[in-house]
Amino acid sequence: MSEKSWKEIPIGGKILEAGNAREYKTGGWKTFRPEIDRSECINCLFCWLYCPDMAVTHDPVKNETAVNYEYCKGCGICEQVCPKKCIKMVKEER
Ligand code: SF4
Ligand code: SF4
Repeated sequence: MSEKSWKEIPIGGKILEAGNAREYKTGGWKTFRPEIDRSECINCLFCWLYCPDMAVTHDPVKNETAVNYEYCKGCGICEQVCPKKCIKMVKEER
């Protein structure tokens, strides 16, 4: 995706193309990242349901819940809603 000049950016920063969120990798925003303790996870998918960025994924074959760090913004909502308390927000190392 090439950088747009200020003349090409719509007034008010409107998003004109539907379904383009996939192109905006917001994972670089976070200062904390969620880590799932798989030994405690019961795959209830509360974290998947509440994640505002759809950054939680679930593999139905392996029955495994994971975080896609390319889109996770590190808001910590998943940690708050997890009934097993098996998500911990840890400092992002870059
Ligand atoms: S909310 Fe917690 S227990 Fe439920 S799927 Fe997510 S990590 Fe696993
Ligand atoms: S920290 Fe926020 S953005 Fe990242 S997976 Fe959890 S709920 Fe989604």
